[in-house]
Amino acid sequence: MITSEDAIRLSKNLDASPLEYLTFYEGKVEKSGYYPLVIINGYESVLGIKYSEELTEQNKWPCHFFDMKTGLCQVHKFKPMVCATYPFSMDGEGNLGHLEKILCPEKWEAQKKDSVRSVIRKSWQEVGKYKEKAKIWNDKYKDNGFDEFLRFMGLHNI
Ligand code: SF4
Repeated sequence: MITSEDAIRLSKNLDASPLEYLTFYEGKVEKSGYYPLVIINGYESVLGIKYSEELTEQNKWPCHFFDMKTGLCQVHKFKPMVCATYPFSMDGEGNLGHLEKILCPEKWEAQKKDSVRSVIRKSWQEVGKYKEKAKIWNDKYKDNGFDEFLRFMGLHNI
């Protein structure tokens, strides 16, 4: 899942129409309660990036932006916050944690910690912005389609 602000950042940095790489999924896939549900064509939905049309060697559908040849992200510099903050989380006091079962340095340097905190804080602000926009959209425009939704969220090159 991504936010409106992620989508805007992607669209500003890519020539392609957002319809080529953005989509909406059934609202029930959002179980964390972190992302707002948006009503598109009358159905609860969540905004996300499309899957690639090509399977990986492990028979998995990767993200649209995954480069099969290099194994790297093609939008690294402006990737969505969910990717930029992975695998870290932070509580209200600024204490960082990270998901289990990943390779992660045991000790982070202070500078790195500060930069992770700042990205997480930014991601919180952006999800807050998205929630505000989503509320207005759901109140006023819920019977409209995906193109209109993207325009309402602030994307222009649909
Ligand atoms: S890091 Fe890049 S390739 Fe991986 S899920 Fe995020 S946008 Fe897609």
